[in-house]
Amino acid sequence: MSVFAGCMDARNMISIKEIDCPSCEKANGIEVFEKDSLTVGESSCTQCGYFIPDGVHLIKFIAEDEY
Ligand SMILES: [Zn+2]
Repeated sequence: MSVFAGCMDARNMISIKEIDCPSCEKANGIEVFEKDSLTVGESSCTQCGYFIPDGVHLIKFIAEDEY
């Protein structure tokens, strides 16, 4: 069994997400890279420049009304 030898472990994968800006509420205004539920690198809103730093929980920046 070498099913897991392909480095496809989801926990190690970086996913790209577009989220609504929590500041100006621009839809999909911020493109963020996420790994293990933490942001990778720095991202900012294309409209207002709202800044999301590296290594924070993305969940904190997603509007609560999306749950
Ligand atoms: Zn914004």
